[in-house]
Amino acid sequence: MSTLHPAITITDLAKSSAWPAIKKERVVTVAIDGKNTRVELATCPSPVGGDLLYLLCRKCHHRRRELFVVDGELACKKCHGLPLHPDHQLSSGRFSQKVVRKVWQVRRLEARLAKPGPDKNTRRRLRRRRRRLLDKLKQELARQRHEARDDLSLLLGQVGIQEL
Ligand SMILES: [Zn+2]
Repeated sequence: MSTLHPAITITDLAKSSAWPAIKKERVVTVAIDGKNTRVELATCPSPVGGDLLYLLCRKCHHRRRELFVVDGELACKKCHGLPLHPDHQLSSGRFSQKVVRKVWQVRRLEARLAKPGPDKNTRRRLRRRRRRLLDKLKQELARQRHEARDDLSLLLGQVGIQEL
């Protein structure tokens, strides 16, 4: 199964113009397959003071940052039983699927290069592909650093801290 994008995330909500109202009402209505679906929000005290808002999964009622639609049903990743990558070490949440997949591709290329099989031209091609993948990995990680910064702004904004 390919990567599934979340239908609703707290990060996106916090960026929307409806955020002040959502924050006040602690509920948001989203259209899922053309049907209005209510999602409640819950607060959790932040370790730095103030409260952080989370989406409540409609199935397990746990606090989540993202909810997904599978077969027209809105729930969290865990409830949908969305598949984890076989390499748990790599997919423990620190790295995105995109990054993990590319690391696997590099590993496979290196395994092929380690064997005596491929001829000179093929080896050159494999090495080129490996280099390209590593470049893409660098780009992807740089992009994620930007997103991490956005998440930090969100956290600071939610607890009312002005950024420097
Ligand atoms: Zn759930």
